[in-house]
Amino acid sequence: MPLLKIVNPATHAVVARVPADTAASIRKKYQLARAAQPAWAQTPLAQRIDALIRFREKIVARREELAKILTREVGKPIAQSRNELNGVLGRIDFFVNHVSKAGRDEVVFADRGEKLEEKISHEPLGVIANISAWNYPYFVGSNVFVPALLTGNAVLYKPSEFATLSGLEIGRMFHQSGVPEDVFVPVIGGGEAGAALLKQPVDGVFFTGSYATGRKVAAAAGIRMIKVQLELGGKDPIYVCDDADVEAAAAGIADGAFYNAGQSCCAVERLYVHESIYVPFVEAFVAAVRGFKVGDPMHDDTYIGPLARKPQLAVLKRQVADARKKGARLLTGGRPLARTGNYFAPTVFSDVNHQMELMREESFGPIIGIQQVKNDAEAVRLMNDTEYGLTAGVYTPDRKRAEAILAQIKSGSVYWNCCDRVSPRLPWSGVGHSGIGLTLSTYGIQTFLRPKAWHLRSL
Ligand code: NDP
Repeated sequence: MPLLKIVNPATHAVVARVPADTAASIRKKYQLARAAQPAWAQTPLAQRIDALIRFREKIVARREELAKILTREVGKPIAQSRNELNGVLGRIDFFVNHVSKAGRDEVVFADRGEKLEEKISHEPLGVIANISAWNYPYFVGSNVFVPALLTGNAVLYKPSEFATLSGLEIGRMFHQSGVPEDVFVPVIGGGEAGAALLKQPVDGVFFTGSYATGRKVAAAAGIRMIKVQLELGGKDPIYVCDDADVEAAAAGIADGAFYNAGQSCCAVERLYVHESIYVPFVEAFVAAVRGFKVGDPMHDDTYIGPLARKPQLAVLKRQVADARKKGARLLTGGRPLARTGNYFAPTVFSDVNHQMELMREESFGPIIGIQQVKNDAEAVRLMNDTEYGLTAGVYTPDRKRAEAILAQIKSGSVYWNCCDRVSPRLPWSGVGHSGIGLTLSTYGIQTFLRPKAWHLRSL
């Protein structure tokens, strides 16, 4: 088997070499999953729930060790790795508490005179491919594999090659919790392993990743007529109104933009500020960003660590050069840090516009542009001037004003006085290049079930 090299993005040291799958081993894994899935679907729901509760207990028991593994392979500051693991617990609880209702049979019509009943039942899709991103392997993975397993599906789980060790731990914990080895199956490797997985006759593909790869996944799934869900990137805007609390908004939005070094699908990537508070807001925002501690992700007090992937440094450098050339004002940062590891200085630009790549392309790093606007109408126009549509937010004490603005925004989630937030109770979806389908909420359980229509006439 070929070996996959796992590199620590903070030190560039090789931390592990892991056997990777081949096309043949992926084919074999698929066949075993196909054979194992019916028995898993017939396992009583209470037993499947018990397995997931044991999985949750293992995360709690091993939280510190799992956080260190995650930090070592993706460079996420250790406090944020712990947050991710804590957050997963709430997601598991939500799915466990709602799966029974979401999958219950429903009689939608019954007429004794006509002796007719109409009923909807729900069946698992079967064997699904779950191709995942590296930025939140526990979070974005659990949105898919937890409800998929609870509803009786087998899951071929392909973690990003940059989150391989965490993916293997997830598999190990499921197997120790009573999920059969052929029902939750890690598929290890890079993009070619993902592509080989899509050649298997799976019943659905659930993908989290970039728009560019999402297009390839959609094409592979489309030709096979199988269910496809794509959770893709974003260029998420925030608008700060003239009546906002400048200090509080600046602190909250800086966190939403720079948490996990900006490597969140719903990180704030564009900022529009009303002209009447533009100057004090920019000042408060830059002060907040300068206050972030950059450093070794293994240290408890580090807020910004290295980027997980080295090539992203070149993307950020290109966006900085383009913004400067087109007249943006660099307020802080603007270059990689002179130290080992994929570090980029937290970067803020003012005087930006939509001719700049910085305001149009996903940055996925610690960088943001702030643009001045005259009124709400201009803010709405600029917020909607994108191919993406994952999240958007407004800061103002006036709820009516916020709701009026957010109603006009094309995006899956909208925020009032908050940002960079995901809730298991609400559907997570994107518009345009941000994706197709959804996860989370009770809709995000039903998406792993196929509704069957029963027309029942008694004689
Ligand atoms: P990529 O698109 O690079 O990779 C996503 C997954 O697809 C990885 O497992 C990757 O493998 C795999 N892959 C690569 N090529 C192929 C292929 N040809 N066929 C099948 N699978 C393939 O995304 P990243 O991992 O870099 O994640 C960052 C992106 O994810 C950002 O755009 C971010 O916005 C988005 N994202 C969206 C979320 C949402 O909820 N909307 C949540 C989290 C992230 P490998 O990594 O091994 O190459």
